[in-house]
Amino acid sequence: MLVTPGVQVIRAANPSPMTGEGTNTYVVGEQQIIVIDPGPVLPAHVEQILSAAQRSGGRITALLVTHQHSDHLPAAYTLKQRTGAPILAHPSVPGVDRALDDGATVASELGEIAILSTPGHADDHLSFWLASQRLLFAGDLVAGVGTVVLSSSPGALSAYLASLRRLISLGPLTILPGHGPIVPNGVARVQSYLDHRAERDRQILTALAGGPRSVDEIVARVYPDLRPELRSMAGRNVSAHLEHLREAGLVERRGENWSRNNQTLS
Ligand SMILES: [Zn+2]
Repeated sequence: MLVTPGVQVIRAANPSPMTGEGTNTYVVGEQQIIVIDPGPVLPAHVEQILSAAQRSGGRITALLVTHQHSDHLPAAYTLKQRTGAPILAHPSVPGVDRALDDGATVASELGEIAILSTPGHADDHLSFWLASQRLLFAGDLVAGVGTVVLSSSPGALSAYLASLRRLISLGPLTILPGHGPIVPNGVARVQSYLDHRAERDRQILTALAGGPRSVDEIVARVYPDLRPELRSMAGRNVSAHLEHLREAGLVERRGENWSRNNQTLS
């Protein structure tokens, strides 16, 4: 499916609660083709990518990967074998041919693609900015539907919020996410994520108003109707917020319990 002149999306058939309708693989250009997030190794998906390149009469010259999760990276190795195209990704990605650092650029038919380091969902997460079209390939930093899962590393939420602010500063018109439909009003969506996280901070502080509580107790208050299979994800999310609130001096931890920091007035 054509997203915009010169950019097609091919959705992998790997739907799940974590991947939405499946991974979005983007095919950029018609002659010198860049594939962004090749996706999982599903034979039909790999064939679709190859035939998209064939139809336009071009060849795949680069495989760009936003992060090394199993729904984004593995088909890069298959496509590299089939086409000889190099893998361009964060230095931590195994088998990378060209390590991409923040500020690097990659030439495409549609103009230069700028590489942005945007940790939060994953420590090695990159986003790709096509300034000529004000198009942002956001990987899993922005979700076409639902919310974004954070990395389990300490400081992930603060990193994620900083990444979002950076994306807003670019003023993207359209965001092409790793999952779900394209996001036409990019700035508004990213701002809504920042608002959502600020609201979650407030809910957690409210949950702690009655005294110290464990992460599980906070989860039960903040997400009263949560399906059991999502509980551990919610726990991780609440822990990330608590960590973030602690960095801001608003909460403190004693053993398993968290409490509001009485030194603060708010
Ligand atoms: Zn993903």
